[in-house]
Amino acid sequence: MRNAAGFGGVRGESAASAYGLPSVERAVLLLARFPGVGRKSAQRMVHYLLRQGRGEVEQLLVALQNLAEQVSECRICHNLAEGEECWICVDPRRDPQQLCVIEEAMDLLAVEKAATFQGRYHVLGGRLNPLAGIGPEQLHLHSLEERLQTGTVQELIIATNPTVEGEATAHYVAQLAAPWVERVTRLAYGMPMGGELEYLDESTLYQALAGRRPF
Ligand SMILES: [Zn+2]
Repeated sequence: MRNAAGFGGVRGESAASAYGLPSVERAVLLLARFPGVGRKSAQRMVHYLLRQGRGEVEQLLVALQNLAEQVSECRICHNLAEGEECWICVDPRRDPQQLCVIEEAMDLLAVEKAATFQGRYHVLGGRLNPLAGIGPEQLHLHSLEERLQTGTVQELIIATNPTVEGEATAHYVAQLAAPWVERVTRLAYGMPMGGELEYLDESTLYQALAGRRPF
């Protein structure tokens, strides 16, 4: 109830709509489109920028312009890249025999954080979702098949998300890869580290049990 008492958010919100400043309103509207950012956070960002002054705003402008002009898609794996190929594809230390298939470039950062995978990646650019009009043609499956056809990849690790669409995508990719690679594997399902059995949802526990391995 802090807001109702007149703290921060509520006061800021009513003030913003009363500004009558189209430039402020426009910036708030644009920032509020960002994932996870609501109108209130967008207002805070705008206030922050206005307080920081012109220098900060100009730095941000340059950064955004560089982002738009210089960042594109790696021609091999579809990860983000500045230039033709991404930092993983140009790294000779990455093992070309292991290829990890992920839905989005952001997932690559998550896998990299684990710091145990030394292979390469292929970013699908989404997952199969017929209801939303996303079929195989909309994903980077053709370029995946081309990579597999070279015969370099021995293990294909499917790391799509454990959702209905992610599972369907995993099955599709597994079938596509089967003729070309020695092994197709899927990330294990299971208990989160530090988790407790009684708090696990049924399907996670079911998958963890089904995927048990010798101790
Ligand atoms: Zn790449």
